[in-house]
Amino acid sequence: MNFSTLKAAQGDNIRILENSFKKNRLAHAYIFEGEAGTKKFDTALFFAAMILCESDDTKPCGTCKNCRRIFNQRHPNLYTIKPQKQNITKDNIRDLQEEFNKTALEDGAKVYIMEDADTMNPHAANALLKFLEEPHPNIFALLLTTNSSKLLPTIRSRSQKLTFHTIPHHLILSELIESGYEPFLARLASAMHHTVNEAEVFLAQENLYDMIDIVSHLYEALANKESLVLTFDKEIFGVVSNKDDSLMLLDVMIYYQKDLIYGKMKHYKKQIFQEQLATIETILTFKSKAMLLEELEQMLELKNRLNQFVNTRLAFDNLLMFLERRMDSEE
Ligand SMILES: [Zn+2]
Repeated sequence: MNFSTLKAAQGDNIRILENSFKKNRLAHAYIFEGEAGTKKFDTALFFAAMILCESDDTKPCGTCKNCRRIFNQRHPNLYTIKPQKQNITKDNIRDLQEEFNKTALEDGAKVYIMEDADTMNPHAANALLKFLEEPHPNIFALLLTTNSSKLLPTIRSRSQKLTFHTIPHHLILSELIESGYEPFLARLASAMHHTVNEAEVFLAQENLYDMIDIVSHLYEALANKESLVLTFDKEIFGVVSNKDDSLMLLDVMIYYQKDLIYGKMKHYKKQIFQEQLATIETILTFKSKAMLLEELEQMLELKNRLNQFVNTRLAFDNLLMFLERRMDSEE
């Protein structure tokens, strides 16, 4: 686990946990509340590693045997509960209690992480409440949820709640680049998605790369003043076969179009397709900002219409013809 990424994303929560640990004032149950992708689970592992780390120095060290086993989720004193099918059931809570009663467990604190804690059914919630009420000085509960108001008030009152805010855009971007994605892909995905997971799912779509190719070729052709309708009609409909494809193609196009507008405004750092600056600069010699904005509006309008029933082919042709217009009188 990359601690600096985690601390950049959730520094406030990490500091709260570290300070409580240093002062020996950890709560026995925490609620981590935040949207998917806000690193609640990573923070939970960080917590477990912090209290079980063998280092004499900064905990977690990330390299000792306990840290390694926790980050690989293979430490016997770490237990994770997830909803089976829809719900967390009473059986899940009973399994947890049995696991933690086993004498074979190693010395030291025990931590359980409950993902989607709000999916506990009433029996499970009551069983958990009883478990929380019994004194277990060395057992820590981390209840992860997107909505803590769905938990029993009696569970909430026995827990300390930490709120996990959405990860800033630039951190998603740097994490994607660190994972090895090409910068323009990382910029595109982080512009379109609020979590690293969603961005990675987006980037895993194979036809995305066809769409990016089409859009890049299309703007190159535009720069070369070629006819778009004749060239791209076939290319687009060779790849785009359904509404989702159409929307994806249009989304990529919208971000390229925004790059043109950023180019006009000289906001180069905001551009996603920075590597295609030459094409962008050529187009900017014959398109005014007003034109570019009007074209963007057409794209957004088309996106809107694609969500209804339209003749997709005709709609794209109209857009391509609109893009082919040259310099207007306003500039
Ligand atoms: Zn360690």
